[in-house]
Amino acid sequence: MNADRITEKLNILADAAKYDVSCASSGSKRKNENKGLGNASNGICHSYTEDGRCVSLLKILLTNHCIYDCAYCVSRKSNDIKRAAFTVQEVVDLTINFYRRNYIEGLFLSSGIFKDADYTMERLVLIAKKLRTEHKFNGYIHLKSIPGASDELMHEAGLYADRLSVNLEIPTEAGLKLLAPDKNRQDMIEPMQYLKNEIVLHQEEKKLFKKAPMFAPAGQSTQVIIGATPETDQQVLQSANYFYRNFNLKRVYYSGYVPVLADNRLPALNTSVPMVRENRLYQADWLMRFYGFKVNEIVNNEQPLLDLDIDPKLSWAIRNLHVFPIDINKADLQLILRIPGIGVQSAQKIVSARSYGHLNWEQLKKLGVAINRAQYFITCKSREFERRDLTGTKIKQFILAQSASKYLKNSHTQFSLF
Ligand code: SF4
Repeated sequence: MNADRITEKLNILADAAKYDVSCASSGSKRKNENKGLGNASNGICHSYTEDGRCVSLLKILLTNHCIYDCAYCVSRKSNDIKRAAFTVQEVVDLTINFYRRNYIEGLFLSSGIFKDADYTMERLVLIAKKLRTEHKFNGYIHLKSIPGASDELMHEAGLYADRLSVNLEIPTEAGLKLLAPDKNRQDMIEPMQYLKNEIVLHQEEKKLFKKAPMFAPAGQSTQVIIGATPETDQQVLQSANYFYRNFNLKRVYYSGYVPVLADNRLPALNTSVPMVRENRLYQADWLMRFYGFKVNEIVNNEQPLLDLDIDPKLSWAIRNLHVFPIDINKADLQLILRIPGIGVQSAQKIVSARSYGHLNWEQLKKLGVAINRAQYFITCKSREFERRDLTGTKIKQFILAQSASKYLKNSHTQFSLF
């Protein structure tokens, strides 16, 4: 009977949690000490469902009861759905049971807001505390920080969780006012600022005193919902860039709005955000963080939306053909990073390999360069690629045609296998 009740709660609260995509576990280095349980090392929890959502953690809400009425959220108080709430002990027991059975490698815990922010946050913190202290649990814990909770609770949360996140939800303040008028952007910014300061402080302390406690070692992240409000990709990326720069965020997660509620402030129920827009935003985000691109190089007033047909790096290259061709044997690392078909690792390998001699197509291929894309933008030791009449539009067409034929070839192979 009790097991049935827990299963029912699990069904409700795991289903409600699936709209939160911010649950990758990279960045934590928590070690198994004192014969404890679990070990959260880099990247152990990256697993995604077919629709791209991460499932390798036990990902649940503590409750889907909520005092707020955010238009985009299934848990909003005016939505007529089945409600449930776990007790603190139930979440602890579930996590330990699932971990022991190897079902999960950690816990991602979010929540609707029970009574007020502190009341809810206190329970989230207590779960993490019990796992760490009573069960010596060293698996990954990601806690959602409830905007408006006290600094004391945020502090305690940081001592037990690997990652904390405050969800921005809507990329702009105006959008938030429209869909969640009870919420206030400042209530999200303040905990982010607090966490940023605490994380820096604890990192400094750790350098001086080895035994200083860890504080959210995997940092803080946030999630923005795309497509519930009419922000352009330019606005979304400008907002992400602002939060990366000012709050040392580890990640901004982009969650395509899933229309589950009818509301005249929201897009119609039959229009969902294409997964490809989410992917393009992640690619653009990657370019800002690891490839040295500025937001206005990727999207700007003339082109506020990302090209859904091609990735943003290729799109930038096609709009900036005057920069190319780049001589792979002479260009500096930053310029090589801008060539379509060359990733960070390949760029670094190119720079070190060319000190032994000039590189040709074959060698570049071995270093991981996607020649079919890069060939339009580089020169190397080999015979030069014929690009005299190539316009940006033609390059785009060629690359799209190549991708399509590769896709057909692969699907044919799969078909013939069966
Ligand atoms: S506060 Fe959170 S759980 Fe509550 S309605 Fe808003 S988004 Fe949903």
